[in-house]
Amino acid sequence: MGYSIKDIAAVLDFSDKADVARLQALSPEVTLKGHSRILRENDMIEHLTVDSRKISFAGSSLFFALKTSNRDGLDYALQAYEAGIRNFVLNIAALSLVEGESASVSAFDWEALQQANLIFVPDTLEALQYLVSWHRQQFRYPVIGITGSNGKTIVKEWLNYLLESNYKVVRSPRSFNSQIGVPLSVWEMTDADNLGIFEAGISTVGEMDKLQSIILPEIGILTGIGDAHDSGFDSKLQKLREKLLLFKQSKILFYHAEDNWIEKEVRLTFSKTANQPQVRLVRIGADENADIRLTQIKVDEKRHTTIISAVYQAEATWSDASGQGQQADIRQMQFEIPFTDAAALQNAGTCLAVCLYLGLSTAGFISKVQGLPAIDMRLQVLPAINRCSVINDSYSLDQRSLQVALDLLNQQLPSKTLILSDIPGLNQTDAPTAYRQMADLILNKKVNRVITVGAQWKRYAALLKVPVLEQYDSTEALTRTFQPGQFKDEAILLKGARSFQFEEIFYLLQEKVHQTRLEINLTAIVHNQKMYRSLLQPGVKMMAMVKAFAYGSGLLEMASVLQYHHIDYLTVAYADEGVVLRNGGITTPVMVMNVDQYAFETLVAHQLEPEIYSFRILKEFMAFLSAQGLSQYPVHIKLDTGMHRLGFDPDEVDALGDLLSRQKTVYVKSAFSHFTSSEDDGDDQFTHQQAKLLLQGCAILENKLGYGFIRHIANTAAIARFPEYQLDMVRLGIGLYGINTTSESLPIRTVATLKATIAQIKEIAPGQTVGYNRMGKVAVPTRTATIRIGYADGFSRMLSNGRGKVLLHGKICPVIGNVCMDMTMININAVPTAMEGDEVEIFGPELPVQQMAAASGTSSYEIFTSIGQRINRIYVED
Ligand SMILES: *Cc1c(COP(=O)(O)O)cnc(C)c1O
Repeated sequence: MGYSIKDIAAVLDFSDKADVARLQALSPEVTLKGHSRILRENDMIEHLTVDSRKISFAGSSLFFALKTSNRDGLDYALQAYEAGIRNFVLNIAALSLVEGESASVSAFDWEALQQANLIFVPDTLEALQYLVSWHRQQFRYPVIGITGSNGKTIVKEWLNYLLESNYKVVRSPRSFNSQIGVPLSVWEMTDADNLGIFEAGISTVGEMDKLQSIILPEIGILTGIGDAHDSGFDSKLQKLREKLLLFKQSKILFYHAEDNWIEKEVRLTFSKTANQPQVRLVRIGADENADIRLTQIKVDEKRHTTIISAVYQAEATWSDASGQGQQADIRQMQFEIPFTDAAALQNAGTCLAVCLYLGLSTAGFISKVQGLPAIDMRLQVLPAINRCSVINDSYSLDQRSLQVALDLLNQQLPSKTLILSDIPGLNQTDAPTAYRQMADLILNKKVNRVITVGAQWKRYAALLKVPVLEQYDSTEALTRTFQPGQFKDEAILLKGARSFQFEEIFYLLQEKVHQTRLEINLTAIVHNQKMYRSLLQPGVKMMAMVKAFAYGSGLLEMASVLQYHHIDYLTVAYADEGVVLRNGGITTPVMVMNVDQYAFETLVAHQLEPEIYSFRILKEFMAFLSAQGLSQYPVHIKLDTGMHRLGFDPDEVDALGDLLSRQKTVYVKSAFSHFTSSEDDGDDQFTHQQAKLLLQGCAILENKLGYGFIRHIANTAAIARFPEYQLDMVRLGIGLYGINTTSESLPIRTVATLKATIAQIKEIAPGQTVGYNRMGKVAVPTRTATIRIGYADGFSRMLSNGRGKVLLHGKICPVIGNVCMDMTMININAVPTAMEGDEVEIFGPELPVQQMAAASGTSSYEIFTSIGQRINRIYVED
């Protein structure tokens, strides 16, 4: 399926005459149609792409150069051109640069995009959305649109699982539900499908209308609304109203209403008015009045199942918003799901309602629903045997999800292995194309080694021209002959259809470890980096602090992500950390803050750039460089403006300038200083004073040196509080890792979650004590849980005796007795259902690390950097 570029240009023709004339004046040698320069009318477009690093099918892709907060989308267009893309949608604003003064005449480089078809539009994101909503209108089959605060992805995946034998489903990959993710998902609709399931997520007002016009759901689902405070909305009601816009043209809406206000608002919104078509409302709930009433009959914790009863009217008589049902035709059924939590009950109820509506028989539902899969749509990068890492994505296999997973694989270790199953559910006519397309994708992504599982891939082996190809008939054949030595120092992606049971392979690859773990959310890191970037004045560079094992998050992993997202500079404390970065393939410039003469060799060998803080270190370094015959080595001059840690004093700057201007061994890349208390408004006078001293120092140096350099002073708190001191570059630290140290509210996301597991549960009688020195005195019958974390892991002894609190099943449980070296006891009276093996959150999204810091009398910085090295860091994306 695809469209010619000529057709697409016609859809995206937003021309006005003035612009067309301007384009013609700029590029007179080409024919202009509307807003576009089309050199080859018949280029066929099958794929849309917005990311120059994730191009899979250059020849048949159309690249949208989206505006980013700090960069001109054109830079990425040039990268995409290099990757082989020849069809582009560009912002018309790119051309207005050319119109201005001579300085920017070269800004739009027609030469660089010489062979490309170009479509100019006022706004590339809107154009992407518009094109896809046009594409959407080519199809008449039903489409389900899902929104809500939680459960969207689970409901989408469960519906797919329940309906896949009755329908050919096209759906959003993972949780692609944003302003960009939704159009990319809906673009996947083809004539060969007959049901669409898409999710829509919003972060502020004004977004849902756009998503609605792209998804155009005939069937709506509103999952839970939740109480979470969203910074993008004034109130919960405003958030709900925005969400309901998704359903404004739907025929039927399935929803939950945890509270009365939700129910009221839904009824109000969809009550029949003259100019509004009727939306049928079906509420799923536990109370008497729900249209589909669910009750738990039996929860079996051992088998991990719940039996549910559903009471509902026959579909034909589901009420309309006016409340006029027809003659009641009450039905009742029971089914069992392999989950015991309340959210699963709700989500299964929603699926039941939709399945009945789409004609699945109750018997069909009952038999399938027992096998509902657990959905963790986050792609996790886990430590594996022999220093490998493994991404387990063996839930489903299709082209789109393989592409997403390969993109994550490409950000991991340089050596990459893909373990891949046959593609399920293909008939003989479709198979050759599907295998060819998948093989093309794998070749384009430059995977070093492919291991296939299944008979089909053996037939199509010739398509897989990869450096190393190994083939097995079945998962069993692979696991039977498995040797751990087959895998070393590589990143492994497990991608198989469910029926191939790749869990078996995963089990063999996974490193068996101490179950206490620090989860680092890479999506949140990227979000935070973007958020702080959006606060910067135009042209300001960003340096990320990855000292101290990247504030405990993992040095190389963080640096890789940041480099991928175009960070300008990385900073470590010591030269050894810089070496880890270079050996791990990091090419971004690296500043090293604390150097001595023993580190010079290492610095130079790995192109690391030292901070120079005193005459002594400067002279030693200059002597070293000239002995090596080196010149113009980049250095960063540190000025002490009040911290009194490292740096040249203000009265030394004159002499420093003189010395630097008389030599050629080093050149000054930047000069900087550090605020002592930029987060604290009580010290603002001092902060201004520090900035003034830095600027004065820089002026003296520039004057003496005769050249300019990068000036920087702002750390995280100063970025937000003192935009005037962002200067040429900022140094982002704690904010990247999800901590806002200022009193202003900023939409940053929690990055780190520390989790431990319960080793044992005990019943303690009154009069007994818990732990060393019998500090945990028990007055009432008490259940305790011993969890696998202690002060050696960074869970401070200061948290003993109730000062520390952790979260178990969403409930707060206090520490009882003294914290031990490797273990801690907690009081779990609040959680009667707790079991051995359950997970406890030490800090994370539900329990801010600041609370733990306050309870142990320290800062989040210290908590993060004290988390023991033996605790595994697990990287997740969502
Ligand atoms: C650690 C550090 C930073 C980052 O500070 P945050 O408060 O974490 O943003 C910036 N500059 C220097 C010199 C640092 O040592």
